[in-house]
Amino acid sequence: AKAQGRSRLQFWEAGMQAPYSERMQIEADLRRALARNEFVLFYQPQVDTVSGEVRGFEALLRWWHPQRGFLSPAEFIPVAEESGVIVPIGDWVLREASAQMAEWRRAGLPQVRLSVNISARQLESPDFVESVMRAVQVHALDGQQIELEITESLLMRDFEANAIKLGRLSASGIRLAIDDFGTGYSSFKYLSRFPIHTLKIDQSFIQELEREENLSIVNAMVAMGRGMNLNVVAEGVETQSQLACLQQMQCHEMQGHYYSVPMSGHDATALLGRHTRG
Ligand code: C2E
Ligand code: CA
Ligand code: CA
Ligand code: CA
Repeated sequence: AKAQGRSRLQFWEAGMQAPYSERMQIEADLRRALARNEFVLFYQPQVDTVSGEVRGFEALLRWWHPQRGFLSPAEFIPVAEESGVIVPIGDWVLREASAQMAEWRRAGLPQVRLSVNISARQLESPDFVESVMRAVQVHALDGQQIELEITESLLMRDFEANAIKLGRLSASGIRLAIDDFGTGYSSFKYLSRFPIHTLKIDQSFIQELEREENLSIVNAMVAMGRGMNLNVVAEGVETQSQLACLQQMQCHEMQGHYYSVPMSGHDATALLGRHTRG
């Protein structure tokens, strides 16, 4: 039954039209998962390329399904997005991330940044700005500690509305990162009108950094980010030689398996603790 459950999800994911009853089932599963606390956040460090210090973490969602086991976001985010359940799930992610930050603060750990992924339906929801503000205010966090990761294609989709929403959040200090940079079709003219703090270079460019054309593309992206006074983060860094290239380009931060895979909250806490002791 476990294997069957998995293949059902994957079948649906392939973009084929699953029967209405199956979609209803998965949607019900997702709602129940929220009520029963089956979601967990994992944390992947974002590290200074020069000093090796942890500057922040990206929160990554996992579903601990009672029958199917650990599910990665690729297996359920599309269904959650399609059904709209992503809105309450995304709200949970924001609250959980803030609670984690508050726990680190109480423990006297370094106040690093926490980045949270925002989906289309969530950004478009009328309560979006309020739900982000609430999550930050509940624990009296400094807005600067929370960064919202939004893909460039999503930002461009409803430019005017997004600019207003993100402008309001930025006014209360909340940071904005462009996720998967280089994979969408952003107009530089529009990009410059968003209150952006961070540029995250998509991992597809990093993974083939050895190829001459990627080297010049990444180099140009880093230079542009630095020129705009943005924090530039390379995603999906897996090897020492990729890191060496990025250091040479003066890319600020790296994230990827080379430093660490996404880790549990417990392990992230331990990592921050080791950092404090130097
Ligand atoms: P993303 O935002 O681009 O996140 C980066 C993905 O790359 C993560 O996959 C991460 O585990 C993976 N990754 C990190 N380092 C490496 C590396 O060195 N090599 C390789 N091959 N992969 C690496 P993950 O956790 O499976 O998440 C996949 C996507 O699911 C994310 O892509 C994001 O779009 C979405 N997602 C994750 N959590 C959330 C969430 O809380 N809300 C929403 N709306 N989407 C989420
Ligand atoms: Ca992301
Ligand atoms: Ca990304
Ligand atoms: Ca991605």
